[in-house]
Amino acid sequence: MQENIKKIMEILKSKFPSHEKTTLNRMRLDENRDAFKILISCLLSLRTQDKNTEKASNKLFTVATTPEAILALSDTELENLIFSSGHYKKKSRTLKHVSETILKEFNGRVPEEKEELMSIKGIGPKTANIVLAFAFGEEVIPVDVHVHIVSNRLGWVNTKTPEKTEKELEKILPKEYWKDFNAIFVQFGKEICITISPKCSACPINNYCQKIGVTKHR
Ligand code: SF4
Repeated sequence: MQENIKKIMEILKSKFPSHEKTTLNRMRLDENRDAFKILISCLLSLRTQDKNTEKASNKLFTVATTPEAILALSDTELENLIFSSGHYKKKSRTLKHVSETILKEFNGRVPEEKEELMSIKGIGPKTANIVLAFAFGEEVIPVDVHVHIVSNRLGWVNTKTPEKTEKELEKILPKEYWKDFNAIFVQFGKEICITISPKCSACPINNYCQKIGVTKHR
């Protein structure tokens, strides 16, 4: 199993090298990385493509990079700044609530504990793990719907929820892949192993996939 996982990860890393250039990955690699900006970009990245996350993040961070500055914006100003990320009204409300809570409950600092992050409405397990991994260098695996579905299709795990997938992946995924895993699997899930209709015939790892193996042998 471990050998297969390594082979698959190496294939996907070479097929999807641009995972290193995603907005969040670049923020992670920035020597002046800022936990609050990483958290905000992660919230903006939900249900949108990376190019939209980047556009919205850049626009917002030219005028507001702190909880205080975000709260000082009017709802309309904030919505206009993050418009390109989609779901901008809901995201605007989330950004304001998260900023307010960080100021009131955590003295203006992004908490470094998963439970504390997840105590803030709008921050789920995947966002919390992205912040822990990308902002604080913690060894965690951010699991979203793409990671969850692909891991199950490959037969690496047999789980019903992303939370359970995270626990199972922690047991089998070599640590050397943890930091890039989410970005690679999200890209792979968006382009090839698509949730509704995976492009199995064009898939570079279909030889290793349990789902296609099951299909072939029916
Ligand atoms: S063969 Fe199909 S189901 Fe399996 S990983 Fe590739 S795209 Fe996904």
